[in-house]
Amino acid sequence: MGPPGAGKGTVAKVLAKKIRIPHISAGDLLRTHMRKKTELGKKASLFVDKGQLVPDDLVIEMMRKRLLQSDALQGFILDGFPRTEGQAKALDKLLSDEHMTVDHVLNFDASNKKITERLSGRRICSKCQEIYHLKNIPPKVSGICDRCGGELIQRKDDAAGTIQKRLEVYREETAPLIRYYDEQKLLRHVPADLEVSDLEPILEKLMK
Ligand code: ADP
Repeated sequence: MGPPGAGKGTVAKVLAKKIRIPHISAGDLLRTHMRKKTELGKKASLFVDKGQLVPDDLVIEMMRKRLLQSDALQGFILDGFPRTEGQAKALDKLLSDEHMTVDHVLNFDASNKKITERLSGRRICSKCQEIYHLKNIPPKVSGICDRCGGELIQRKDDAAGTIQKRLEVYREETAPLIRYYDEQKLLRHVPADLEVSDLEPILEKLMK
């Protein structure tokens, strides 16, 4: 959980590598569909590019298919899902059908200033979706992905006007879920204004 730009994706990738389970990002999956211009991708881009949420039924079906793939049987880190109460309930149902449960919910808290700074400097690889930042995580060669040589681009929804819309949507639709997970005693707090390198010891403690 956490607003856009709080560092969820960056930290989820580090963590997934460390504990060897897949990092499943709703935003990455949607962007892949959009790039491939699948039926879902075409529908999703109408919402994503404007900073709005993609309708629950589309996202839930996409996540259901992904979570039932064999690499997810030993567990996974979800990033950007659930984002509405409907999605949280659908996730609970799906997991209980598969005899699984949500073990931890990490809540990333970051100031608006930090969020805007992170999102406006963010660049992603157009091929493998690796995340960079012009100042904080620069690539070795400007504009080129260190990992796969792909071209680095700015996401359409990281444009200044759209960032404000996404923050608004987060506060209205997603922030209420924090209470949902707090009531289930699953919530752990991550001080997201820190840099990734400082987070590692904190995450280790949280996951115990
Ligand atoms: P961020 O967390 O920085 O906003 P994401 O990559 O998680 O970035 O999401 C980008 C966009 O994809 C969102 O603004 C929204 O349009 C769409 N999206 C991602 N996850 C969901 C979801 N669970 N439900 C609906 N829309 C989603």
